Parts: sequence; C-alpha cells; structure tokens
Amino acid sequence: MSIDLHAHSDASDGDLSPLALYQRAAAQGVEVLALTDHDTAQGLRDLRRQLPGAGPRLVSGIELSCVWQGVTLHVVGLGVHIDHPALRFAESCQKVAREGRARLIARRLERFGFRGGLDGARAIAGRDAVGRPHFAAWLLAQGHVRSMAEAFDRYLGAGKAGDVQATWPGLEQVIYWIRRSGGLAVLAHPLTYRLTRSRMVRLLRAFRDAGGAAIEVVSGVQPIDQTRQLARLAREHGLLASQGSDFHGPRDHWRELGRMSPLPPDCEPLWHAYPLPDFEGARA
Ligand code: MN
Ligand code: MN
Ligand code: MN
Repeated sequence: MSIDLHAHSDASDGDLSPLALYQRAAAQGVEVLALTDHDTAQGLRDLRRQLPGAGPRLVSGIELSCVWQGVTLHVVGLGVHIDHPALRFAESCQKVAREGRARLIARRLERFGFRGGLDGARAIAGRDAVGRPHFAAWLLAQGHVRSMAEAFDRYLGAGKAGDVQATWPGLEQVIYWIRRSGGLAVLAHPLTYRLTRSRMVRLLRAFRDAGGAAIEVVSGVQPIDQTRQLARLAREHGLLASQGSDFHGPRDHWRELGRMSPLPPDCEPLWHAYPLPDFEGARA
C-alpha cells in the first residue's frame, strides 16, 4: 500500500494547489495521503470543498515548527481536527512568530539601505508565510544582488544580518496542540537536525515523554543505513514509525509523492497501531 504522510501544497511552501497535489497523488498511485503544510491547515479547509469523488484517502495534517534546546524542529500532526480551537490557536501563534521574524529581517535589511523589504517579500510570498527565500527574491528583483545565492551569501544566510530565528514555541507546546486537536505527533525527518548521538537520545526521550507517537523513519528516498539507524532509534525509544515524501512540488526532481524507501520490517508503522482517521471533508 502506498502511504505518504508528509506533503506540502501552496498553502505553505509547496508549488501545487491542494487539489492539484491531491490529483497528482492519485496519478502516482498513492492510496493514503496526508497534507501537512507548515503551520497552517488552510489547504485542508480549501480542499474540503473540492475533494473529488475518487482518489487517495486523505488524512488531515500540519507540520509545526518548534524549538527544543536551541534547535528548531518540525513536528507533524496527523489526524488533527482542523476546526478544533487548539489547532486554530496553534496556527495563529505560528503566524505571529513568522510575522515577527519577517518584520525583524526587514529591519535588518534596512541597515544596508534596502527599504520596503517587508511589503516586497509579502508580495512575492503570496499565500505562503514570508520567509528568507522571499526576501532573497525581493533583493534580486530590486537589483540589490545578482542571484538568490548572493542574497543568502551576503545578507540572509547563516550568520548574516538577516539570519533571524523565529521565536517558535517549545516542543512540548506543539505536541500538546496536536494531541489536544485529536492528532498524533510525529517527529519529522530526525536526521536533518544534525544532533549528536547523545542529544538525539535526549530529544527522543523528551519527545516521547511529551506525548509524541512516532518518528519519520523514512523521509523520501534515503540511504539504507539512515533507515536502519532511525528504525533502531524508534524501537529503542518505544516510538512508532511514520513515512512521507515531504514533497514540495514538481521542482523537487528528487522527490515525488509516494516515492520513498521501504519501511524496514523491524519497526511498527504508526497506521498499524492507530488507524488514521479519514479527513472529515465531504466528497463532491
Ligand atoms: Mn518546506
Ligand atoms: Mn520539515
Ligand atoms: Mn515538510
């Protein structure tokens, strides 16, 4: 069965509309799809009114940013009720965090004489929340830099003036929001945070103690040693295994909906322990 529990639409930083994403998943033979936009369930609210009569089973989801011991982490919530007040509250907190960060980046860029960055970046972002790539695109459009790479190298990359951390909520907070709104918390792509072995162990303990259910043992197509390492970590910490492509759009040549390394047999899939609820959307 083709199960993809991590994907983005243009309600966050993906390229495709929620409906186009759903249709692409159907064309790729995906049987269960979770839409997990960054910090918003708006794509699911839109899709609710447009869901075609046939296609993959849709699972509601969200990918919440948070911070744990100074590291920014992503936690996917699966099966959240998109009208639950706790989820609405989470979305508005994340929006405030992102907007505060965007305002600060714009102020930092003013130091170099670049004015109007906030409005410029907002216009480029469209429905997506304003972030550094939008400021980079704005700097490029204004002729302040010759490429996106130069925008990051000089102004927005690590250690530069525009490298501003958002004031994300804590790990326990986002897990609470997910569980309160009826969802299961999944630690997204655990190897991307570049933690040492001992910090990874501490994180997984903290994650489980706060009510986390699973980790993404598979994120797209990945080396077999990573899959084995993550499966072992899940087992050792009493966590279930999830999988997803983290697809953002056709521009990701190396990612496709439903295309993932196989989940090893020595870990327990999340969907075996908890039947993932059907999205409450009505089909047209
Ligand atoms: Mn993304
Ligand atoms: Mn992520
Ligand atoms: Mn993602």
